[in-house]
Amino acid sequence: MSSMDCPNCGCSRYPDPGGHCPDCNYPPLQRLKLTGDKGSLSFGVLTRVGSALLLRLSSEAQFAEREEQFLISCNNSDWFIVPSPSARNQTLLNGAILTAANCLKEGDMIALGSRADSTRQVMLLQVGMVNA
Ligand SMILES: [Zn+2]
Repeated sequence: MSSMDCPNCGCSRYPDPGGHCPDCNYPPLQRLKLTGDKGSLSFGVLTRVGSALLLRLSSEAQFAEREEQFLISCNNSDWFIVPSPSARNQTLLNGAILTAANCLKEGDMIALGSRADSTRQVMLLQVGMVNA
């Protein structure tokens, strides 16, 4: 097993992949997993998510922005979703329109909403966490 620098205490013995830090007991890093009707993808680093990537997950991803519908980023062990301010269709988290960065947790649902019809949601993606 190899090792990397611990994100908490900075020691070089943090196991990669998986496992707690031997010095400070920091938990293993988790990857973010998004699952739609076509498949799933897991993310380990900051990613600009646009329609090309989303089409691998959902048959309704053509409604997403080509360049960036939203951004996903990781701060220590927490994952965040940041909506793109220029997206034509809104990004929804658990049915609520996202206006700012929001922390993601297991079981959350990401969707696209229509500005014309606020009750309509497409491209449902389920959020999961997997050990790196
Ligand atoms: Zn540590």
